[in-house]
Amino acid sequence: MAKIVCVLYADPVDGYPKSYARDDLPKIDRYPGGQTLPTPKAIDFKPGTLLGSVSGELGLRKYLESLGHKFVVTADKDGPNSVFERELIDADIVISQPFWPAYLTAERIAKAKNLKLAITAGIGSDHVDLAAASKRNISVVEVTYCNSISVSEHVVMMILGLVRNYIPSYQWVVKGGWNIADCVARSYDVEGMHVGTVAAGRIGLAVLRRLKPFDMHLHYYDRHRLADSVEKELNLIWHASVEDMVKVCDVVTINAPLHPETEHLFNDALIGKMKRGAYLVNTARGKICDRDAVVRALQSGRLAGYAGDVWFPQPAPADHPWRTMPHHGMTPHISGTSLSAQARYAAGVREILECWFEGRPIRDEYLIVQGGALAGAGAHSYSQGNATAGSEEAARFRQQA
Ligand code: NDP
Repeated sequence: MAKIVCVLYADPVDGYPKSYARDDLPKIDRYPGGQTLPTPKAIDFKPGTLLGSVSGELGLRKYLESLGHKFVVTADKDGPNSVFERELIDADIVISQPFWPAYLTAERIAKAKNLKLAITAGIGSDHVDLAAASKRNISVVEVTYCNSISVSEHVVMMILGLVRNYIPSYQWVVKGGWNIADCVARSYDVEGMHVGTVAAGRIGLAVLRRLKPFDMHLHYYDRHRLADSVEKELNLIWHASVEDMVKVCDVVTINAPLHPETEHLFNDALIGKMKRGAYLVNTARGKICDRDAVVRALQSGRLAGYAGDVWFPQPAPADHPWRTMPHHGMTPHISGTSLSAQARYAAGVREILECWFEGRPIRDEYLIVQGGALAGAGAHSYSQGNATAGSEEAARFRQQA
C-alpha cells in the first residue's frame, strides 16, 4: 500500500459547484506537433468539472482506493504545522499543482523519508528542489503540454488587455462612468508592434502563432533555434541574447521555465534595456522577474504595463506590491487551470500513476528528474539546481487571512 498526499487549491468560497456554465468540452485528440493527450486506461471524472480544488480530488480517489492505497487531499500546505508537512513524513508520492504549490524544499524532502515520486499536476516543477530530489533519487514528473495552449491564450488576452487598456476601461463602466478620454489616453493598437518571447517552447511558439494574424512583428530568444521552416512560416526574428531582443520590442512575453539560469532574469539592468513604454507579460514564473524592479519600472514609466498570473511565493501575501502597483493586469495563478486544462492534467496524473503502480515506464516527455539527474523534458528545458529559496514566505498568506 502506498500513501499519496495531494495538495490542491481550496474549493470556491460559496461551495463546490453544483452546475457549470457549459455542458461539454471540445474534443481534442493531439497537441500541435503530434504529441497525444494523456492516455489513462480509465478516468473517474466528468471532463469540464472542477477537478483542481480539494473536493475535485483530480478524480483520483476511486482509482487509488480500489488499489488499497491511502489518499490524503489537503489545501493546507504552508508552515511547519500544515497538514501537508505532517502528512509528508510517511508519504510515498506527492501530487501538487503549480497554481497552489506545495513547495518541496530540501528540508521537507529530508523529512519525507519514503518519498519516491513527486507529480506536478500541470507544467513547471520549480516548486520542487530539483537538486535535492536528484540526490535522493526521487522522480519528478509533470504533464507536459497539458495546459501550454491554455496559457498561450491567456498571454494573448493579457497583451491585448494591457495595450488596449481594457481593465481600467472596464472599471469606468462598473463605476457608472462614460469616461472615454480617461480610457483611451493609454490605449493603443498592437498592429505593427514588435513582440518578443523569451523562450519559444510549447507556449512561446503557440503565442507567436496566435499573434501572427494581428500583423505584429514576431521575435524570439531561445537557447535552441526553431526549425528553419517555422522561422520562415511566421517570419520570425531570432536573437542570440535576451538583451538584444528586449531592446527592440514593444511587448515582451516570458515563457521559459524557472531554474537557476532564469531566476531574476528581469532585474533593473535588463528592464532598463527595454524600450520606454514597453509592456511585459509573464505567465511563466513570478521569480523570473525581480519583484521590486518591476514595481520601480511601472512607477517610472519604463514599463507601460505588466501582466501575468504568476507570483512568488504563491499564494502572494496580501501586501505583495504587485497587487497595488500601477498599470498592472495581474490575476492569481489561473492561466493553466481552466476547466479544459484540468481535464487534461487530471487524466495525465492518472496515466502517470497507472504507469508507476503497474511498473511501466512513464513517458519520456513527462520526466523532469529520474535516476538522480535531469531527464526527458527536464534535461531539455531546465538547468540543475534549486529555485525554491524564499518559498516559506507563502505561510504569511494564511497568517494574514
Ligand atoms: P517547454 O519546455 O515547451 O518550453 C520551455 C522553453 O524554455 C524551451 O524552449 C527552453 O529552451 C526554453 N528555455 C529554458 N531555459 C531557457 C533560458 N535560460 N533562456 C531561454 N530559453 C530557455 O515548456 P512550456 O512552453 O510548456 O512551458 C514553459 C513554462 O511556462 C513552464 O516551465 C512553466 O514555468 C510555465 N507555465 C505556466 C503555466 C501557468 O499556468 N501560468 C502553465 C504551464 C506552464 P530549450 O529547450 O531550447 O533550451
